[in-house]
This record gives sequence, structure tokens and C-alpha cells, in this order.
Amino acid sequence: MTQKEQPSDKQPTLVREAQMLTREVVAAPFRLRTYRLIRRILIGFILVSLANVIFSSFFYTPKMYGIVRENRDLIIKYRILQDRIRAAQRKVDDIRHRDNFVYRSLFSTDTLAVDGVYTPYADEKYAPLQGDAYTPLMEGTWRQLDALARTLYLESVSFDELQALSDNKGKMSTAIPAIWPIDRTALRNDRIGAFNPRRMHPILHRVQAHTGVDFGCDVGTPVYATGDGTVEIADNSGYNGGYGRQILLNHQFGYKTRYAHLSKALVRPGDRVHRGQIIGETGNTGRSTGPHLHYEVIHKGVPVNPVNYFNRNMSAEEYEQLLEKMRETNFEKL
Ligand SMILES: [Zn+2]
Repeated sequence: MTQKEQPSDKQPTLVREAQMLTREVVAAPFRLRTYRLIRRILIGFILVSLANVIFSSFFYTPKMYGIVRENRDLIIKYRILQDRIRAAQRKVDDIRHRDNFVYRSLFSTDTLAVDGVYTPYADEKYAPLQGDAYTPLMEGTWRQLDALARTLYLESVSFDELQALSDNKGKMSTAIPAIWPIDRTALRNDRIGAFNPRRMHPILHRVQAHTGVDFGCDVGTPVYATGDGTVEIADNSGYNGGYGRQILLNHQFGYKTRYAHLSKALVRPGDRVHRGQIIGETGNTGRSTGPHLHYEVIHKGVPVNPVNYFNRNMSAEEYEQLLEKMRETNFEKL
């Protein structure tokens, strides 16, 4: 028994040593294991991120799919919007056409300019829209909308004007030029020089507009006021920039008429005149090469073709015949 007990005497010390050792061994690997775990998590995280970057550069993520779909929907909606703006523009164009050729001619008012009503805005206005793949779509839509807005504005101005005209319809019908400025039988050999805003100078080869109509007739032929109005200019002196002796009548409603190269003005500035009243006599003054009357109709400061104001009841054939007779004028020095 004592032999057996001997080792058991030593045992507690051995066990204690072993326990201490184990504690040291166990304590060290615990820190190590935590460190390894963190390292693994980090590596795992980096790998997953890398995989994600690589994946998303080759394939769409569900979120990107959503964005792409939204973009496609937006483009479709923009196209639909453009179609609707185009339809509205067509309607407004119809109204403008009717305004020009029905309403305005009803009041014997000159037509609105058919071309050049709308001049697009400068490119700078659309600069904020520049810079991505959708620029052409956005800019196109904005331009369409701007064009529509401007046409609408011009039309509303035109209708305001027509409203005012209809209020004064009676007064207007006697004021607006509507007869020949000389007796038709006084015309010499049917010689009429045409209104031509694009007349070319034969030698200088540049545009020198003929802003009126020339009637070849003897000196002293009576000149009639073509509508009721007030005398603005009655000039019996000088050259007057080539017009010679001349009369300018103001008919209101935006209309004026000019009678140039006269031998005599029989009215004075400020006089009220009536349609058909004799206001002067034809002559050969100013930049004139032969006896004739130069007659202008000016609408809102712009010379328009007087042919449209000779006779409101002129038939289509008469009108054509008249235009046929008109030739390049040779009554004035260019
Ligand atoms: Zn002329």
C-alpha cells in the first residue's frame, strides 16, 4: 500500500503543474483564434466586395435593372409628350391659316407674315439641358414647346387686333385704301410698273426694292385719295430723297399711302381728306425718268403690294390680267 501511496503523494503537484500549463496553452490560442477569425471575416468581406464589383461590371444588379426600366419609361413618356405638342401645334397652325386667309382678309387687313413668324431662341437658352445622352430629347421637347407658346402669343395679338377692327368696321371700310389713285383711262399704253421688294439693280446687281406701283400718265392727271384720312406730308418742294413732290396720307388702322413725283400737291398737312377726293396732280419730279405716279400702300411701316388695294371687288381674272400688264418699271432712276 505504501508503494502505491507514494506516487499519489506526488500527484497533486503534477496535476497542478499540468493545469497551469494547460491554462497558459489555452490562453494563448484564444487570442490567436480571435485574431484569425477577424482576419477571415475581413478577407471574406474583401472577397465578397470584389466579387460584387466584378459581377456588377458584367451584369446588371436588380437595382440597376429598375433604373434602366425607369429611364426607358421616361423616354417613352417624353415621346408621347412630343406627339401631343406636335398635335397642338398643328391645330394652332390651322387657326393661324384661317386667321391669315379668312379673318384678316375679311377686314382687308394685310396678312401676317407666313414665314418668319417664329424665329427660334438662341442655343444658349438650352445650355442647361446639355451634357448627357438625353439632351437631344429634352432640348427637342423644349424647343417644340417654345415654338407653340410663341405662335399662340402671336395669334392672341392678331385676334386682339381683329377685335379692335371689328369694333370700327364701319369707319374702317371708308378709311382703308380701296380704289385706283388715278383714273384708269388716264393710263398711257397700260404702262404700270410693278411693286417688287426684290428688284435687282441692273448694273450694281444688288437688291433695290420698288416699294410701290408706277402708273404711266400725262403730267397734270388728277390724283385721288384712295381712302379717308389725314394729310401727314404734303411737300411741294425739293427732291425728297427721290420722291420729288409728294403727299403722304395717314388712314389710321395701321395704313398710310404715298403719292410721289407729283407736279402739284393740292392739300396741306393736317387736312382731312375723303376717298376719291382730288389731292394733287401727277408729274415728273424727283428721281423720275418720265411722267408717272408712284403710289405706295404702307401697312404698319412696311410697304405692301398696292395691287391688293385697288378694288375690293376685283375678280380673279381681272386681278390676273392686271398682274400680267405689270412690268419692270422704267420710270425711275435706280
Ligand atoms: Zn415707282
